[in-house]
This record gives sequence, C-alpha cells and structure tokens, in this order.
Amino acid sequence: MVFDQSLGVIRMRYRFGVDIGGTSVKAGVVDENYRILSRGSVRTPDTFEKSMKAVADLLFDLAGQMGLSESDFSCAGFGVPCSVIPGTGRLVFANNTNWKNVSIKNELSKYLSIPLYFGNDANCAVIGETLAGAARGKKHVVMITLGTGVGGGIIIDGKMFAGGDGLGAEIGHMPIVYNGIRCTCGLSGCFECYASATALIRQTKEAMAAHPESALNAWAKEHGEVNGQTAFDCAKEKDPAAMEVIDQYTSYIATGLGGLVNIFRPELFIIGGGVSNAGDALLDPVRAKLSSYTLAYDVVGSAPVQKAILGNDAGMIGAAYLDQMN
Ligand SMILES: [Zn+2]
Repeated sequence: MVFDQSLGVIRMRYRFGVDIGGTSVKAGVVDENYRILSRGSVRTPDTFEKSMKAVADLLFDLAGQMGLSESDFSCAGFGVPCSVIPGTGRLVFANNTNWKNVSIKNELSKYLSIPLYFGNDANCAVIGETLAGAARGKKHVVMITLGTGVGGGIIIDGKMFAGGDGLGAEIGHMPIVYNGIRCTCGLSGCFECYASATALIRQTKEAMAAHPESALNAWAKEHGEVNGQTAFDCAKEKDPAAMEVIDQYTSYIATGLGGLVNIFRPELFIIGGGVSNAGDALLDPVRAKLSSYTLAYDVVGSAPVQKAILGNDAGMIGAAYLDQMN
C-alpha cells in the first residue's frame, strides 16, 4: 500500500502477472496478498510484435474492468516459455516458440510505462509456489514441471537462483544419460527427454509395441489416444507392462532429483505440470527411489517431494513478484 499525498489516502498497489505461452497468454491482476483478483487470456498471435501488442491490450482491459489505470500498478512481471536475460528482457533461446534474440522489454515499453520484469515460466512457477503455494514459508526449494518439456526453478535462501545472465537453472536440460536421446534443444540425454509428459507417452507407446496383449493397448483403443494418464490408469489395475513403464519413468525422475538433492539439499521438491495430476501414484515411487540417490540418507533422510498446488496460477503470481525474488 502507498500513501497518496494528493488525495490524502492510502491506496492499494496492484501488480500484473503474465504467463506467456506458445498457444495462449494468461494475465492476472495480483494484490499484495498474492491473490489474483481478475484474470484473462488471449490466444498468442502468430508474430512476436503482434503478441506483445496483444499482451498490452489484455493488461489494459483487465485494469479497465476493475476501474483501475496503469498508475495503480507498481509493476508488471512476465514469465516466458524460453530462456530470457532478466535485465534486458532479451529472449536468447526458445525451443518451443520461434522468438529468438528479440527484446520483449523494448517491445512492451512501447505500450507500458511501469517497471517491467522478466523470467522464464518455470522460474515464475517456483516463485508462485514459494510465496503462496506448496512451499510457503520455505527458503530452499526446487521445483520441476512435467509437461511437454521439463521446466525447473530453484529458490536458494529465499531468492530465485537463475545463474549468470539469468540463464541457469535449466533443470530440464541437465544431462542424465550419456549419449542419450536427442533433445529439442540440440543436446542429447537431457532430463526432459526421459521425464517429460512427452517422454512418458513415448515410453508408453514402446511398451505397447513390445506387449500387444497389455491393458495399455486396450486403454488406447478405448480412449482413441495415448496420453500421460494411460500408464498410470493401467498400472492401477496391475497391468505388468504399465507397472514397468511407471517403474522406469519414476526411476528417471528420481535420477534427476538425486543429483539436485545432493547439490541443493532443498527443504522441499515440488512437482507440477500435467503429469503431477497422477498424485501419489507418481510421487510415492519417486520418493522411495530418491532415497538411493541421497547422500547420508540413513542419517538425515532425503528431501520431501510434494505436488504443486497452484496449477497455472503459480506462473502468474510468481511473474507478478519477480522483482522481490531477485
Ligand atoms: Zn535439452
């Protein structure tokens, strides 16, 4: 809150939190208690310039609906689905959009005059979960998001760790297999090649081909597709091929988290993204396997692993508070 001398009153200050995705842009008006008071979304237009104009229009619409103007906002924060240099807003690597080496800050400054902050979407999610979600009150947190790829965010001593130029904490591109599967980033053996929803679907299809009699094949026929839920549903019914898929998939996740637990020793691992909807069917095997990768497990145990609780809201809340976590 701020004291407005001209009016002689204390005014609430708001923040814009924006989650820019490859297919849609979601934005919210966030208050000082991390609540999203108003929200909206638009489809991401086909060009970078049009996308930034659509983002600005969305923010002005949201403010207008609440009877607010830009001066009621202390800042706007943006989570982007790629690597971004926070200070300049320059997008340096984007394997899921065609935007590369453009300055999001320069483009948005044509429309907005409040301070603008930038971070990658996974970093925004861990900030949101740490301020207002599963890791509230924790100071050392690592989050992974299991979706099309694997996003990662690291909080150390209450601050986001993004590395030099803000380009670190790319947990999804940490190699876990020597000479492994080729990643969309151009490297090979990346964590996301084995732990993403895309990887789980590939592993499920491989099991279906190797075991035509499995319940996986019947499930796919009934639902008309294979998705991240297929193997979990069939493993629940004790289908051996499905149980093997889950065993292998959760072993890969535990391998990645094992490296992270020994480097960062987080108070909490948070797992978000679509695959996390499987809940304890995903988390219990990961917890059990993580013990065998944790240094001095028999003395101090491992880091707890919990599901993210804010869903898509984490990205918006975290983006709105990027300035406080750097
Ligand atoms: Zn990669």
